[in-house]
Amino acid sequence: MTGREVDVAIIGGGQAGLATAYHLRRAGIDFVILDGEAVPGGAWRHGWDSLRLFSPAAYSSLPGWPMPQGGDDYPSRDAVIDYLTRYEQRYALPVERPVQVQAVIYDVDRLRIETDKGPWRARGVVMATGTWRHPHVPHYPGQELFEGQQLHSAHYSGPERFAGQRLLVVGGGNSGAQLQAELSAVTHATWVTERPPVFLPDDVDGRVLFQRATARIKAFQEGREPDAPPGGLGDIVMVAPVKAARDRGDLGSIRPFARFTRTGVNWTDGTETDIDTIIWCTGFRPALDPVAGLDLIEPDGTIALDSTRCRRNPKLWFVGYGTWTGPGSATLIGVGRSARDTAAEIATILTGLPT
Ligand code: FAD
Repeated sequence: MTGREVDVAIIGGGQAGLATAYHLRRAGIDFVILDGEAVPGGAWRHGWDSLRLFSPAAYSSLPGWPMPQGGDDYPSRDAVIDYLTRYEQRYALPVERPVQVQAVIYDVDRLRIETDKGPWRARGVVMATGTWRHPHVPHYPGQELFEGQQLHSAHYSGPERFAGQRLLVVGGGNSGAQLQAELSAVTHATWVTERPPVFLPDDVDGRVLFQRATARIKAFQEGREPDAPPGGLGDIVMVAPVKAARDRGDLGSIRPFARFTRTGVNWTDGTETDIDTIIWCTGFRPALDPVAGLDLIEPDGTIALDSTRCRRNPKLWFVGYGTWTGPGSATLIGVGRSARDTAAEIATILTGLPT
């Protein structure tokens, strides 16, 4: 079976895939979205119960349709899922799900997308698979000895089951801050960060992070170094629970431990602490398994790109993975920019006409 034919296959139906689809649709390109989830929402489906955006709705919109302003300053996980679900419906985007893409391989003048529901063939493929499937856990000496629990934030749902436990929350970004805030309210939680966390001022929310990303893009386009203040999308937004934890004195952090023991950790000063659970808020890596066989992935886990187009395979584009696919591109508002440019480039290549 040669497989179903399409101009462009978008692998991943989260926000990055949807934003790219919106612009491909406007360019009149024939495409399909192949998504591994049974329902819409991408990784937002797997966020913890109290997860909130760190940016207001007006700064969290995909192209074409502003995120509805709910009652809260910062939309909840469920509001984001609802928005992504309705976005798909609003634009009647052709999503095939659940479809697990196993591999992208060369197939004469096309790319062949091998899936658990049979093959597709496409003239171009947009990878929008996100990072949620690849939680990152750093290695510490003795980790295999530790008999307590280890959980990545990707699989955390809420604080209830940790009441009474001795916890370490490891990681100095927004996830680490929000989980430290939530867990320290119900049990003894120690926050471990490689360096002192960087907090945005109370009156500044996530939108300033996008303004920084925009300033960076503008600077690069003008061929100069960004003059935006240091820091980036990892700076911690003082959402209400994080502010409350600071006011309780629960937002202090200490530098990492030296090694694990059977029942806890050894600190660099030689002291030892018994712990029950470690929660790793240590980020993610791009979920690029489908292209692993094409020998494109660099030692740092990214792909060499010209903007979002793969330098070594011009039929492949990468959208929504963060800085290496465009400043702010791993965010709801930031992905629209690279999705628009990606769709415009694809349309020009496939139709031979500038869009
Ligand atoms: P995803 O949402 O992960 O979607 C990728 C899709 O691809 C998924 O449906 C997945 O099933 C599918 N997929 C992957 N591999 C395959 C495969 N092989 N075959 C088929 N399908 C596949 N951004 C903001 O703008 N504001 C915030 O406040 C914010 N807070 C965040 C908080 C946390 C805890 C995290 C982790 C991220 C946050 N982000 C935030 C960043 C970003 O919005 C999310 O990470 C978002 O989910 C990225 O969207 P995406 O479409 O790139 O990837």
